[in-house]
Amino acid sequence: MSFDRNLLPEPAGYYEAQGLRLTGPRSAKWRTTSCVFHGGSDSMRINIFSGAFCCMNCGARGGDVLAYEMALNGLEFIEAARHLGAWVEDGRTPVSPRPAPLSPRAALEVLGFESLLVAVAADMLAKGQPLPLVDAERLKTCASRINRIAGYFA
Ligand SMILES: [Zn+2]
Repeated sequence: MSFDRNLLPEPAGYYEAQGLRLTGPRSAKWRTTSCVFHGGSDSMRINIFSGAFCCMNCGARGGDVLAYEMALNGLEFIEAARHLGAWVEDGRTPVSPRPAPLSPRAALEVLGFESLLVAVAADMLAKGQPLPLVDAERLKTCASRINRIAGYFA
């Protein structure tokens, strides 16, 4: 028996099947919808590529549709994977989910540094200062690292 991530439902379809309406530009990676965890009407952000979700109000978050399914229904990992048809019964012994590639402490250190860079850039933009190209490029790396860590630990 094993979990097959490739069998997880496509994120936009999954969230719409939960009765959520995803709003935002067609090209946007993160869409807006309501948060069922605290009842907010437009505070939930959904990544339509990874399935990650994050409520800007109550902080409910997770890295994929499996994490959402677990949080929504109070399920354990394997139960949620079964619900979503991503649990393959193949006669092998169950394997635990893939461990995170770095320790929580190391992840916090990376997050601390990356969020500092993001905060500096956000402050510049908020004050109307143009963002140098090199900073904009570095922000892409920040976003990538933060998203990856969010995915591991969600
Ligand atoms: Zn919320």
